[in-house]
Amino acid sequence: MKQLKEKILTEGIPVNEDILRVDSFINHQVDPGLMREIGKAFASHFADQGITKVATIESSGIAPAFATADALGVPLLILKKQPSKVLNSNLYQTQVASFTKGFNYELTLSRDFISEQDHVLLIDDFLANGEAATGALRLLRLAHATIAGFGVIIEKAFQPGREKLSEQGIEVYALARIGKMSAGHIEFLA
Ligand code: 5GP
Repeated sequence: MKQLKEKILTEGIPVNEDILRVDSFINHQVDPGLMREIGKAFASHFADQGITKVATIESSGIAPAFATADALGVPLLILKKQPSKVLNSNLYQTQVASFTKGFNYELTLSRDFISEQDHVLLIDDFLANGEAATGALRLLRLAHATIAGFGVIIEKAFQPGREKLSEQGIEVYALARIGKMSAGHIEFLA
């Protein structure tokens, strides 16, 4: 997606070989016009697949997932992060390792909002090691929902996330694929 790649090149800050900061348009301040286009791009790629819900992990995935859900005309499910184990029989729960924060957290989803009738599109801001997406998919499978695929704004293709998801039979659709990064320099894959 050309508009997104230009924005990454002008406003993205590659901190080092691993971490890209996109605080000015995705993670801290959000560019609504760009999010609308991102939502349309995901919706058009996954159109006609019978998606009943879009899911994301709070909080950075919410803006692109909302735009996608809006474009598809289906509800948005926000998988919630809990700091510690909350015992609640009405919740599906799973543990996820955080790439950026370096600790584990509990991901939860209320049984009220998901069922085996659902065909879910998962959306997130970044794909790195694939831990967040794998945790989210585990949660959706606990509810016996089926998965349409994973749409991600930025894939760091030099990290193993895509491989991890492909091994699970999950289609990964990334709007920008970074092949290489260093402080001050970003290279996209075609
Ligand atoms: P994974 O679980 O794939 O290793 O990491 C995915 C999650 O970590 C994303 O939801 C995102 O919030 C965060 N993340 C991973 N890499 C980056 C990065 O380079 N920059 C930012 N801002 N977040 C990242």
